[in-house]
Amino acid sequence: MTGQLLGFVGVGRMGGPMAHRLLDAGYRLCVYDVSEEATGPLVARGAQLAASPAEVASIAEVVLMSLPTPAIVREVVLGGNAGIINGSSIRTLIDLSTTGPGVASEVAARLAERDIGWVDAPVSGGVTGAKAGTLAVMVSCPTPTYQALQPVLKTFGKLFHTGEKPGLAQTAKLANNMLAATALVATSEAMAMGVKAGLDPKVLIDIINVSSGRNSASQDKFPRAVLPGTFDFGFATALSHKDVRLCLDEAQNMGVPMLVGAAVLEMLAVTKARFGPDSDFTMVAKVLEEWAGVEIRG
Ligand code: NAD
Repeated sequence: MTGQLLGFVGVGRMGGPMAHRLLDAGYRLCVYDVSEEATGPLVARGAQLAASPAEVASIAEVVLMSLPTPAIVREVVLGGNAGIINGSSIRTLIDLSTTGPGVASEVAARLAERDIGWVDAPVSGGVTGAKAGTLAVMVSCPTPTYQALQPVLKTFGKLFHTGEKPGLAQTAKLANNMLAATALVATSEAMAMGVKAGLDPKVLIDIINVSSGRNSASQDKFPRAVLPGTFDFGFATALSHKDVRLCLDEAQNMGVPMLVGAAVLEMLAVTKARFGPDSDFTMVAKVLEEWAGVEIRG
């Protein structure tokens, strides 16, 4: 039991389970979230509830955050008196969100002016991985900081130190998420075609999963959230759309063409328009179902 006090801002689908794992590991927590529903279960386990991000950062020296978008991260860290940057105790801020390299380097520079260290630590592995402590945690920060934070970050899963430059871990995360979304869109297209031709969806997914077309959507998202018709993988369409957009922006800035990525971005935009920003991103398959006039269930 470490007993060390940590701050945690944004305890939603990912941040919530990660915060619970820290409590399980013996850390004490001070939490803030705009949603009482999100903080309630942690407070019930003894976490201290703060009234603002700045209050969290006035209580804890190390603060973690898991927030939806780059704009919200910028606001929570830099925005006015309530911003984390105005905390009186904070020495290190760890961003577990997917925010892209642009915001990471901007916020890191502003924090450095106050002698506050910045750590990018975007994660991959979904809500299941967050609960089980099996996430991939991509970390960019100075090596001594990385070494000091290992006990905290290992609570979440397997660590990869991508380098010292702010934003580098974010680039790794965007590359992964663009590929994950591509797999989902392409698998939805292939499954809609197969089912329309008369194949049993369960048989087709089993074939794909022992053949060269297998991928994260065929092995995980389809069996878990599409074939049963639950569409509850736990990742919002708006967040996947945000990730692919950030990836394309970054690629464009560096002169790297992403033709496939551009098509995937549009499919996510269609899904968001059709089923709403909070819909599960596996609803991409439902768009294909509607277009093709089939149902992919098994
Ligand atoms: P979520 O919407 O479930 O959680 C975000 C939390 O932030 C919510 O509880 C919300 O109330 C809170 N919040 C929003 N605005 C706030 C503010 N101004 N101040 C304080 N709290 C605020 O989202 P999530 O799925 O947990 O994703 C969080 C981050 O993790 C995102 O950047 C996402 O891209 C990334 N991510 C998600 C997954 C996934 O599978 N869900 C996987 C890997 C990474």
